[in-house]
Amino acid sequence: MSISDGSGPAALSLPLSLPLARSAVDRAAHHRTSQGDLAELWVKAKIAHFNGEKFLTSSTGLRFLSHDELLNQENGERYFLGLDKSGTPYFLFHSPDLLDQDESYKLLREANLDDLQIGIAVHGQSLALWHKRHPRCASCGAETTPTLGGSVRKCSSCEVEHYPRTDPAIIVLLRDSQDRILLGRQQVWPEHRFSTFAGFVEPGESFEAAVIREVAEEAHVKVRNIEYVGSQPWPFPASLMIAFAAIIEDPENAKPDGEEIVDIKWLDRDSILEGLKSETLLLPPPLSVARAMIEAWYAADGRERPRLDSPETWR
Ligand SMILES: [Zn+2]
Repeated sequence: MSISDGSGPAALSLPLSLPLARSAVDRAAHHRTSQGDLAELWVKAKIAHFNGEKFLTSSTGLRFLSHDELLNQENGERYFLGLDKSGTPYFLFHSPDLLDQDESYKLLREANLDDLQIGIAVHGQSLALWHKRHPRCASCGAETTPTLGGSVRKCSSCEVEHYPRTDPAIIVLLRDSQDRILLGRQQVWPEHRFSTFAGFVEPGESFEAAVIREVAEEAHVKVRNIEYVGSQPWPFPASLMIAFAAIIEDPENAKPDGEEIVDIKWLDRDSILEGLKSETLLLPPPLSVARAMIEAWYAADGRERPRLDSPETWR
């Protein structure tokens, strides 16, 4: 970790530790092509239940079912998610039409999960939401059904295979030469929430070009020293966040676009603390890349300070 001498921003400590990128599951994709393997694995599997948009949980995270407990449950699909270190198989049982549910069903963001469970939940939710949105073939319009352990859907008529979609989005921590960060605010967010700039990568665009375009569109600034800092899945419903840090060349030009971004704020470390204390600033949620980047920057000058504490807000 380097200490800033005042001539430029302090270096971030990399790689970033990102909460949804902690998977400890071996996807063991070679089993997907064998119906025999999948049937054998199913009867000894630990099975997570995704019901509507929620997971079955217990006080220790996900609650796994055995195949016995699902014997009479016809209304659902099975997706093979992989193996843990000891070779135990994991599946998701997906009930697209909400079954009766009680309070032990929780949203991914509400459940407190260890690394293995995060891997199961992020993979499972990404797959389940994709399956639900793709009942028909994009080529001919006929029905599609899951195959290869739920990793593919196949058209019942033209036999085209459809693969799960992941939508890449860049997210960027913007700093000036004084090591202040620039955050923006969207109208739809909770009051006082500010966050880093982000946007979907467009067709035919590189990640770096998307960073340059997004910050030009939303904050009217030019950036240099674009540096990759990490990535994590964001299955709400299908994003992959690719994170960068960059230096703003023309901080004097920063202004919100007035459409997607309605306000911006320059913040140094003290003003972040003051904003949180006076409740005039809310940070993005702890699961987000944005929060991880802000915390990494906050710690990067190496000085002792209180932890950043901002209430959970989601959107
Ligand atoms: Zn088709």
